[in-house]
Amino acid sequence: MADVTIANARKHYGNMPVLHGIDLQIRSGEFVVFVGPSGCGKSTLLRMIAGLEEINDGTIAIGKTVVNDVSPARRGVAMVFQNYALYPHMTVRDNMGFGLKMAGVPKPARDLKVRQAAAMLQLTDYLDRLPKQLSGGQRQRVAIGRAIVRDPQVFLFDEPLSNLDAALRVATRIEIARLKDKLPGTTMIYVTHDQVEAMTLADKIVVLNSGRIEQVGSPLELYERPANLFVARFIGSPAMNIVDASYDGASRVGLQGQTISVPQGSFREAGFVKLGVRPEDLRLAEGADHLLAGTVALVEHLGEVTLAYVDIGTSEPLVAKLEGTAAVERGTAVRLTADPTRIHLFDGETGASLRLPAPTSLAA
Ligand code: ADP
Repeated sequence: MADVTIANARKHYGNMPVLHGIDLQIRSGEFVVFVGPSGCGKSTLLRMIAGLEEINDGTIAIGKTVVNDVSPARRGVAMVFQNYALYPHMTVRDNMGFGLKMAGVPKPARDLKVRQAAAMLQLTDYLDRLPKQLSGGQRQRVAIGRAIVRDPQVFLFDEPLSNLDAALRVATRIEIARLKDKLPGTTMIYVTHDQVEAMTLADKIVVLNSGRIEQVGSPLELYERPANLFVARFIGSPAMNIVDASYDGASRVGLQGQTISVPQGSFREAGFVKLGVRPEDLRLAEGADHLLAGTVALVEHLGEVTLAYVDIGTSEPLVAKLEGTAAVERGTAVRLTADPTRIHLFDGETGASLRLPAPTSLAA
């Protein structure tokens, strides 16, 4: 059991800053996912926790110990890499037990640990195989097993699913989610650029962008209350629709010559804003009460859902995620509506969310 505390951690390669001062508290037993676009610094931050990259400024503590100058082997961490890094000439059993053997753990204790980890990862029937006789997903499970047998306080995963095809990705993701339940005391930190992995695995997501933290929160907090445009666009698929608009500071938002209402007191006052609405929050309007009128530019039938791209006069069409059976045809006029409480407003210049905190009870 160990917290990980990162305080003002900075990193540069040469004179290029890569992390600009990261502050983050990870609680013991938490599953935390670092997510963000390629190059934002996720792997670097993970490797700094692992001890594979030097920390240029600030501190990283595991438990109560500042580990800046502690070697990777002594940090109580185990890392799983995207390319598995298994020994090709060793069986699954020997690959999983190798670290323990090097650490001088006697064979009976080693075998027990390996058998327990193999059972946890559905690898019992494969212990005598070589890596080349396994699928990619099984190889990655062996790599995870090799980390488990060491009883790490902190488990680090660096894009562990990125070399797997789509079906194996899902199966291995489920395996990792199960692992989290089987090892409840182990802190897990997981890096991915895939927001679906982040949403499905994380207790807490850290969204990184250009070496800075944009927001930290539970998957639903990020989805429901993105702190800024970056997070709003990054979480959710298809991405949130964003449209230029003006806000009167009370309840009226004007866009494209149309006016819509938002709940009074939901947002801070502002003039020029960006309005955000998720594709799944848009519906075809039935009565006169609608949000926006436009023309269907394109329809994609995906079976369970239909994506309608609606031209409302902005540079990009709005995407509406409708029922699979929705009767929409390209070229026809449609009107869209949304629950006003599902509308997001962001500052037109800074991109910061204008949402006010929900009123709290004044009762003692
Ligand atoms: P991510 O994992 O989010 O894709 P990385 O942490 O791998 O991003 O990289 C962050 C930035 O640091 C990138 O601009 C990358 O090119 C740069 N970088 C990473 N490793 C090195 C290195 N060893 N030397 C120089 N630049 C590096």
